[in-house]
Amino acid sequence: MTSPALTISDSLTITGQTGGMSSDLLRDAESGLDLSGARPFAIAMTERFRGLTVREGMLLHGPAGWGEFCPFDDYDDQSSTSWLEAAIEAATAGWPEPVRDRIPINVTVPAVGPERAHEIVRASGCRTAKIKVADHPGSGTEDVARVEAVRDALGPDGAIRVDANMLWDVDTAVTRIRELDRAAAGLQYVEQPCRTIEELAAVRRRVDVRIAADESIRRAEDPMRVAVAGAADIAVIKCTPLGGVRRALRVAAAAGLPCVISSALETSVGLAAQLALAGALPELDFACGLGTRSLLRGDVVAAADSLIPVDGFLPVPRTPPAPDLELLAEHRISDPAREQWWRDRLARTWELRQARLRAGC
Ligand SMILES: [Mg+2]
Repeated sequence: MTSPALTISDSLTITGQTGGMSSDLLRDAESGLDLSGARPFAIAMTERFRGLTVREGMLLHGPAGWGEFCPFDDYDDQSSTSWLEAAIEAATAGWPEPVRDRIPINVTVPAVGPERAHEIVRASGCRTAKIKVADHPGSGTEDVARVEAVRDALGPDGAIRVDANMLWDVDTAVTRIRELDRAAAGLQYVEQPCRTIEELAAVRRRVDVRIAADESIRRAEDPMRVAVAGAADIAVIKCTPLGGVRRALRVAAAAGLPCVISSALETSVGLAAQLALAGALPELDFACGLGTRSLLRGDVVAAADSLIPVDGFLPVPRTPPAPDLELLAEHRISDPAREQWWRDRLARTWELRQARLRAGC
C-alpha cells in the first residue's frame, strides 16, 4: 500500500538528507517502512507543559498505517529507540485485538482556582478527575479548595485522584495526602507524591490511600522495580517509552500491578496507539489519562478522526487514523534546520535500533 502522503513531491527532496545514512538502511524492505518519507510536524500547545509551548514529532507510514515518533527533547537517542519501536509497530504490525471498545478518560484539572476547577470538571463530562496539586510551596490550602470544588462538581460517585509530580518530601506527602483524602471524601489514588521509588514506598507504608507511580516509570524495567520495592499500588504507563503496545502489555503483566494508561501529548495518531494499549489490557480498573488532544491547538487528522473524549470516553481504534495532507502541510515544521534536526534524530535512532536488532537484543 502506498501512502498518498509519500506521493507529495517533497518526499523526494527529503531522501538523501538523512545524516549520512544510506537510503537502503532507511527503506526497510522487510517491513515496508520508508523512513525517508517521514513527515515532521509542529503543533502549538494551549499551555506550557514540560517547558514546551510546541509539540513536535514525525509521522511514519508503513503497510499497517501510521505511527508517531515524538520523544521529548530531553530523551537521548538510546531512550528514543523505544519511541521508535512504538511508531514502527503501529506502522507495520498494527495492534493486538482489543478486549474492550471504549476507554473511560479522566479530565485533568490544572492548578487553577476552585471556581475554574468546578467549571472544567462540569464541562468535561468525565466521571474521573485528576487534580494537579503541590505546584508551589505553601499550596496546601489552595489544593484543598480545588479538591473540594471538584468533589462538588462530580457528585459523590465520581472518582478523584491527585498528582503531585514528585514535589513532596515523605513527611509532607503523608500530611497532605491525609488532608486531601478528607477534602475529596476519599481519593482514588495519589500519583507520584515524591521523587524516588524508596520515598514512594515510605509514603505508601504510612497512608491508606493508594499510590500510583508515574515519573518513576520511564523504562521497560521500571514497572517491575516499582512492584518489587512495594512503591506503588498502580502503574501509570505509556506505550511509547515501553516500546509499543505488545511490549507494554508484557511489561504490565510481568509487574503485576493494575495499570492506568497515559499519553505523551501525542497527536491523534500517537494517541491511537495508547488507546490500543488501554483496549488490550486484560484488566482496566481506572480511567486513563488520554484526554490530552485538547492541549494541542491542532491535529494532523481531520476533525472527525480527532481523538477528543465525548461524554468521558474515547473509542479504541483498530488502526491508526490517517493524517490529513492539508493539515500535515499546515503543521509542518517551518524552520528547515529544525526539520533537519528531527530527520537526523530519526536516522540516528533508527541506526541504534538496527544495531540492537543485529545484536539480538
Ligand atoms: Mg503524573
